[in-house]
Amino acid sequence: MIIHSEQDMMAFGEQLAKGLVAPATIELIGDIGTGKTTLVKGLARGLGIISEVTSPSFVVSKTYRSGKKPLTLTHFDFYRLTDPGIMQEELDESINSPGTITVIEWAAAVENVLPEGRTKITISYNDDGTRTVEVER
Ligand code: ADP
Ligand code: MG
Repeated sequence: MIIHSEQDMMAFGEQLAKGLVAPATIELIGDIGTGKTTLVKGLARGLGIISEVTSPSFVVSKTYRSGKKPLTLTHFDFYRLTDPGIMQEELDESINSPGTITVIEWAAAVENVLPEGRTKITISYNDDGTRTVEVER
């Protein structure tokens, strides 16, 4: 699928939210600036989360609660961590929490705790500035 703009990426995330049944885990794969966090902003909107989603790369994880239903979004970014340490346990807990959607950017360091049944979304740049998005379940 071709995504033409930031707004399109948010709309894609919002659409994705509709098909999710918690607990669910999504791994986002793609270079810096391809739009992983932008997708999560849309996903949050689709889940009924009002607070603004910002990149968790400095703090590793951020948690948001939906106003709509007892639903939590936990957004992890392991970009800065080669050794996830205790964050790996936090991730494992999130993955196994009922009512929680777990989204992970830069998951290489925590590959061993990711569930088999996760959704993988790969985003890549195109020369014209659009993005190609591939979803694999
Ligand atoms: P990542 O989390 O993958 O590092 P971000 O979502 O933080 O990326 O940033 C993506 C940047 O690219 C944003 O500044 C966004 O406005 C811009 N952008 C331009 N075109 C697109 C597009 N088609 N899809 C997503 N983001 C886009
Ligand atoms: Mg990001």
